[in-house]
Amino acid sequence: MNIYSNALAADTHLDVEGLFTEGFGQYDDWIDEMCQQFLHSNDSCDPIPVSELKTLFTDTTMPAQQQSMGQYLDEFQHQILPHCSHLASPTYVGHMTSPLPNFVSQLSRLVMILNQNMMKIESCRGLNFVERQVLAMLHKEVFHLDDAAYLQNVQDANVNFGCFTSGGTVANITAMWVARNQRQAALQASGSRGVIIGSELMHYSFDKAADLLGLDLIRLPFDDQYCLPLPHLKQALSEAQSQDQPVVALVAIAGTTDFGSVDPIAEMAELARAQGAHLHVDGAWGGAMVLCEEGKAMLSDIHLADSVTIDGHKQLMTPIGCGLLLTRDVATLGNIRKEAPYAIRSSSLDQGRFTLEGTRPAMALYLHAAFHLIGKSGYGELLSKSLARAQMLAEMLNETQEFELVHAPKMNLMVYRYLPQGYRGRRLTEQENEFVNTFNVALQKRQRALGNTFVSRTKRVTNLYPQQPLVLFRAVMLNPLTTRTHLQTVIADQLVIAESLEREVRDQDLDLGGMQ
Ligand SMILES: *Cc1c(COP(=O)(O)O)cnc(C)c1O
Repeated sequence: MNIYSNALAADTHLDVEGLFTEGFGQYDDWIDEMCQQFLHSNDSCDPIPVSELKTLFTDTTMPAQQQSMGQYLDEFQHQILPHCSHLASPTYVGHMTSPLPNFVSQLSRLVMILNQNMMKIESCRGLNFVERQVLAMLHKEVFHLDDAAYLQNVQDANVNFGCFTSGGTVANITAMWVARNQRQAALQASGSRGVIIGSELMHYSFDKAADLLGLDLIRLPFDDQYCLPLPHLKQALSEAQSQDQPVVALVAIAGTTDFGSVDPIAEMAELARAQGAHLHVDGAWGGAMVLCEEGKAMLSDIHLADSVTIDGHKQLMTPIGCGLLLTRDVATLGNIRKEAPYAIRSSSLDQGRFTLEGTRPAMALYLHAAFHLIGKSGYGELLSKSLARAQMLAEMLNETQEFELVHAPKMNLMVYRYLPQGYRGRRLTEQENEFVNTFNVALQKRQRALGNTFVSRTKRVTNLYPQQPLVLFRAVMLNPLTTRTHLQTVIADQLVIAESLEREVRDQDLDLGGMQ
């Protein structure tokens, strides 16, 4: 009996050199089939709970002998593929990872095979210039310099419109690195640690940046719109001044990770300028919104920033590993310039002089392709529809008694929670909120375990109960294929699970805290 599900699995292996000379085209159909299997899966396809998955991957000995491609694919299909997160499912509305446009599956072969290293001109040649061109295209959408500035700088190797990074984290760290180096003189003069100031809702990449750069990070409480309050900021600035601590950077978030709120960029830019500090806008999530009309209105001051982070792999729909830091001034990245004699020479065109990362993939090609194949109007349409989808879900939630929406969505994500019977339509005590928190954790965990639909979870202080963090569902509207019907399915799924949880609590005095 053939133990393999695919006839090709029984092939024989090639000698090692054969791996470089023989073709593998006979496996294409099989791999296509696996891609389809993935794309049409929801999370319930994995029969193994996450708690048990680790037991599948305990063999720590490197295989002594080669396997054939067929044997390997067979293993892949049965031991790895079923355990992926099914991010492309239209009822997976929980995280910031988008489904990919289908052209990526073909294009990715090209990009992978080219395997260019964007660090040095000698290992990426013309793609160096393509990357700069793509950066300039997005820079223009954010900063709107005049055409002459783009023409003059786009291929001037000693200046930059920004850099590609592996994601928003490295873009944010790079921005803080630039900011600190710009303040070197003041830091030396004062002898004290510099500070980064932003709201409590700053992404934790700023904790990493502060750690790495030897800076203090001040997280100010947010206001009733989940934005950084200017009076608090002014106070923090004068405190830093009285302690002779140079302010290195102010961080404005353009699209907070949980609420989608946008900090007051124009006012913060002015305050930063008065201090000689850098104004960074973290638009990892929301920055891409400049490509749609509604978003442009929300981000009308973004061009006042000194630098802006935008993630390609969130709303620009590229594969993971694509972040960007854009700098308004083309000389900004000169502050972190590094060279090495064996490569990355000072007189070279190497982008590696200006990036935190060394060897870097040509992720710019995915963005280049998307700019051509989706286009500005296509992005405009996708983003507007995502915003509309968020409004739709908000209305659907508001129509129920069971769900409590924390705020009207500002961007295409929102937080809400489930209120068990007896906890609706009134002010809750701290103890009652604790119970509701526990209930929502249990509800999200069970929903995730059942795996028909997925919404992520967060815990935040909100305007509803300013003294007490609430456990909240976090819905992210990124998948263009998510329809009203899918959203109804998500809500219905949560209601059914909640109802059975409530019953269990009543009947069995269930300890929700212990539930997995
Ligand atoms: C996602 C996100 C980041 C981090 O980006 P990664 O690509 O995950 O490194 C930073 N800031 C905000 C606001 C984000 O939404």
